[in-house]
Amino acid sequence: MEPLRIIPLGGLGEFGLNMMLLEYGDSAIAIDCGLMFPGADLLGIDLVVPDVSYLLERRDKLKAIVLTHAHEDHVGALPYILKHLSVPIFGTRLTLGLLDNKLKEHDLEDDADIREITAGEPWEIAPFQIEGIRVTHSLMDCLALAIETPIGTVIHTGDFKIDNTPMEGEMFDFQRFAAYGEKGVLLLMSDSTNVERSGYTPSEREVGGNLEQIIEHSTGKVLVSTFSSSIPRIQQVVDISERSGRRGPQRTQHDSQQPGRFRVGIPAPAQEFHDRKRTLAKFAFPSSNVPHDGQPRGTVIGAASSRSR
Ligand SMILES: [Zn+2]
Repeated sequence: MEPLRIIPLGGLGEFGLNMMLLEYGDSAIAIDCGLMFPGADLLGIDLVVPDVSYLLERRDKLKAIVLTHAHEDHVGALPYILKHLSVPIFGTRLTLGLLDNKLKEHDLEDDADIREITAGEPWEIAPFQIEGIRVTHSLMDCLALAIETPIGTVIHTGDFKIDNTPMEGEMFDFQRFAAYGEKGVLLLMSDSTNVERSGYTPSEREVGGNLEQIIEHSTGKVLVSTFSSSIPRIQQVVDISERSGRRGPQRTQHDSQQPGRFRVGIPAPAQEFHDRKRTLAKFAFPSSNVPHDGQPRGTVIGAASSRSR
């Protein structure tokens, strides 16, 4: 029996750069491929992406990148990495829909090998059997992953916020977690923002109640800021503005041609992706960018300068 190697290429002890590698024998899969927004110490730097030199030296081993959800710190580095690695990308419909915009930005949309997955429908990337488990988070169509390996089951929770009354009705699948728990789990990898704080994070629905109060009792214009990926919250603002007779947000990329009342939902790019199953062309990787000390590090992409740390 060979050992299962678990190698974080980023995302531990830091915000962003989430990328976890599972390696067994001749196969490896990566979970997520996120970027990090630079802090004040990285003046002139636009984005930080994981250092994948470990993978570039073993490029034939990598069989897939599996995405848990569409936040930047989980998918944002993909366009940069895909320029150097040809590998199928697995994700849910919304995750792939949001990723598609990034791929278009980088002229990669025709070459990327993108495959849609659904919670509760396991698939195989030998020797791994993988099942996506529905989790609730601040956007939709998010997954935890149960990965059955030859030596036992690994659960990677992705990001989550347990919300028993989520806005869009996708319930946290406690039962699947329990079922894996009963079968036995070799390793649980779990991380959640503010995990050190006791208590519960309020449901998105409660946020909506407060928003409604504020918007209804305001006499002038109301400006609302939110993460662009917080789609259920954007829908709440639209609904509240409609209920209170205000003009709400008019158009977004998720607009369903009904200005003022768009119903957020998961776009349907599935067929488009299936029509587009061409494998990513292999790009040459400039040798100067490949460090040889074997230490995973972040690679810094900068408009003004470029350096590693
Ligand atoms: Zn997240």
